[in-house]
Amino acid sequence: MSQEQKAVSACVPRSLVRKDEPATGRAVHTLTILGATGSIGKSTLDIVERNPGAFRVVALTAQTNVADLAEAAKRARAEIAVIGDSACYGELKDRLAGTGIKAAAGQAAVVAAAAEPADCVMAAIVGAAGIEPTFAAARQGRRLALANKECLVSAGDVFMSAVARWGTELLPVDSEHSAALQALHGAEPESIEQIVLTASGGPFRTWDADRLAKATPEEALRHPNWSMGAKITIDSATMMNKGLELIEAYHLFPVRADQLGVVVHPQSIVHCLVAYTDGSVIAQLSQPDMRTPIALALSWPRRMSTPTQRLDLATIGVLNFEAPDEDRFPALRLAREVLRKGGTAPAILNAANEVAVEAFLARRLDFPGIAAAVARTLEAAEGRGLVAEPQTLGDILTVDAEARLLAQSVLGS
Ligand code: NAD
Ligand code: MG
Repeated sequence: MSQEQKAVSACVPRSLVRKDEPATGRAVHTLTILGATGSIGKSTLDIVERNPGAFRVVALTAQTNVADLAEAAKRARAEIAVIGDSACYGELKDRLAGTGIKAAAGQAAVVAAAAEPADCVMAAIVGAAGIEPTFAAARQGRRLALANKECLVSAGDVFMSAVARWGTELLPVDSEHSAALQALHGAEPESIEQIVLTASGGPFRTWDADRLAKATPEEALRHPNWSMGAKITIDSATMMNKGLELIEAYHLFPVRADQLGVVVHPQSIVHCLVAYTDGSVIAQLSQPDMRTPIALALSWPRRMSTPTQRLDLATIGVLNFEAPDEDRFPALRLAREVLRKGGTAPAILNAANEVAVEAFLARRLDFPGIAAAVARTLEAAEGRGLVAEPQTLGDILTVDAEARLLAQSVLGS
C-alpha cells in the first residue's frame, strides 16, 4: 500500500490529515468488552465501574474463565455474557440464573457478541483468536478500541482497508500507540520524521546469551514494570512484543517502515516519541498503567479522569535510554524483516510466535528457541510459497492455520 493510500485508509491518520473533521468527542455510551477476564478487560471494567452512568455494558466475553466472566457480567449489569469454550455453557447459565443476563457459548457466539450494536467495542482477546471477533466489531462502523495487536499484525492491510470501508473509528489501546496518537495529534504527515516506540527491555534486558539459554517461564513472566497477560509478558521478554508493535504502528500511522524506531527505556515512563522535520520531538509520559491508554481510547478526543499514580519526575530522578540489542533479542529483527516482506509474512511470524510461546510456557522449548522457531517457520513457509498477498479475512485465517501446523512440525510436536 502506498503512503498516500495508507494515510487515507488508516482511521487514526485520517484524523491527522482531514482538517474538515469536527472533533466531536462523541461520548461512549454502550460498550462491549471482548476478552473481559484478561488484564486489559479487567482494567477496562475498572474504568467502567469508576464512572457510574457513563457506560452501559452490552456484552462481555471470555474463553474459559466462567466464574470471573459471570461475576463481571453481574457487577457491570451486562446484557450478554459469552464464554468461548462451549463446555462451560451450563456453568455460565447456572451462575447467571435469575439475573436477566443472557448467556451464550462458542466461538460463533463470541463473534456474534462483537457484532452486537455498541458505541465502542474493546477488542482485548489475546492472539490471532481475536481476529474474527475484532473484524466483526469493526464492521459496525463505530468505535473500536484495539488492544488485540495480533489482529493488526496478521491482517494488516486487509484489516485497515476494511476499517476505512466501514468507517470504523480505530483507537489504539497499546500504550506506545496511544502515546503516538497523542504526540501526532494535529500533525501533517509530511512533517513526521520518525516515530520511536520505547521498550522496557523486559526482565532479561541485562542478561547475557548463556543466562538467556537457561531462562525459565517463571523468570520470563516476571515483568519489571507492567502487569499483563502471560503471552504478551513472554513477548516482552523476547522483545517480539516490540516487533509486533512496529508492525502495528506501520499500519496505524502514515509513515514508512524505515521511519519507525525502537529505543529501550527501562523505566517505562516515556511511551513513544515523535520526531518532526523541524527538530522537535514530542513524547507522551505516564506511569506504566494501562488504565491511562484504555481511558483515552474510550473518551478520545476528550479525557477521563483515572486513579493512576501521578508522575513525579523529581522522585523518579533519572530516565535511561539505550539501543536495543538485536543479537540477544533477534525477534525484533525478524519482525522488521516480515514488515519489509509484507503480504502474509507478518501473519506467519505471529502464528509461529504464538505456537512457540505456548511451547516455552509448557517447557517444551527453551527461551532462545522461541525466536529460532519463528525464524525456521518463516523459512519453511517461504519454501512452500505461503508468503503471498492476502485479499480477504479468509486468506489470513488460512495462512494463520497453515503457519501453526508448520511451526508445530518445526518444533517436532
Ligand atoms: P490476557 O491473557 O490477560 O486476556 C486475554 C483475554 O482473551 C481473556 O479474557 C481470555 O478469556 C480471552 N481469550 C483467550 N483466548 C481466547 C480465544 N481463543 N477466544 C476468545 N477469547 C479468548 O491478555 P491481555 O494481557 O489482556 O492482552 C489482551 C490483548 O491486548 C493482547 O493482544 C495483548 O497483546 C494486548 N495488550 C495487552 C496489554 C496489557 O497490558 N495486558 C498492553 C498492550 C496490549
Ligand atoms: Mg505496548
